[in-house]
Amino acid sequence: MLNNSMKPCGMGAQGSEAVWRVLNVSGGKDSVAMALTLHNEGVRIDEVIVAVLGVEFPSVLRAVDKLAGILQGVKFTEITVPFVEGLEKYGWPSSRSRWCTRQKVDKIKKYLYQDKGRVVEECIGFAKGEEHRAERNFERTVSFPLIERGITEERALAICREHGFLWDHLYDALPRLSCYCCPLGGIQQARVVYHERKGLWEEMCYLDGLSAKTYLMDWSVEKLNRRFYMEDVGGVTRKRKPRNKTFEQWEAEVLERVRREAVHRERECAVSCTPRFTQEAKEAK
Ligand code: SF4
Repeated sequence: MLNNSMKPCGMGAQGSEAVWRVLNVSGGKDSVAMALTLHNEGVRIDEVIVAVLGVEFPSVLRAVDKLAGILQGVKFTEITVPFVEGLEKYGWPSSRSRWCTRQKVDKIKKYLYQDKGRVVEECIGFAKGEEHRAERNFERTVSFPLIERGITEERALAICREHGFLWDHLYDALPRLSCYCCPLGGIQQARVVYHERKGLWEEMCYLDGLSAKTYLMDWSVEKLNRRFYMEDVGGVTRKRKPRNKTFEQWEAEVLERVRREAVHRERECAVSCTPRFTQEAKEAK
């Protein structure tokens, strides 16, 4: 159930010209689908706010640019949140310490409500199925156009794809996209970055050096790097570490197996290739 401050976007009192309608867009599928849906319905959009930390997947920022091209004439405002500064101060964010999200919300609020005489309606892209997020006590006027229209996350992605938003196909591997270095994306997001976005992975290794906190509870970025290397060369993708072994023992075992297999392949090649070369050499004479 939506509370009183959450009236359907583009309908009734909240649709009035006196209200400054602002879309909170991250550049991910849900907020982009929200913007496209309202635009297609002809709902007036006064402003789009984008909070940028500087560590987003590049395709997320490109999606914002593409959206700006579609919403011609709508004011786009970028709010900068200095992620690196926060990382040095608080360490990697975690479910208990989402300082970066807090800073985003605070900065957006400060910007939006600086004009006391203005009535603002903030539209947030929570999808159907995320009502629990919408039920949090917002002390401001917010609406949730996707929930109001029964649009699920799956449908939101389909809407975006219909409009040519593809995010370099990252949604094929990840359920959410925002910051490539976010520990809340878990090992799976880190794995995708390591295997498919080497440049971003190098950035992440650099950022790790600025944080006093470990990336994930049991995994530093350096340890993940070693694990993903094993996946590259040792075919251990997604396998869990055997319970009776330490990470170091497991790693040593996998790398030793890889070494033995390489030696074996070299020997086999030497055996199977030699007669042919010998024969070719004889014929050449
Ligand atoms: S995606 Fe992660 S790193 Fe980015 S703002 Fe959200 S919690 Fe912070």
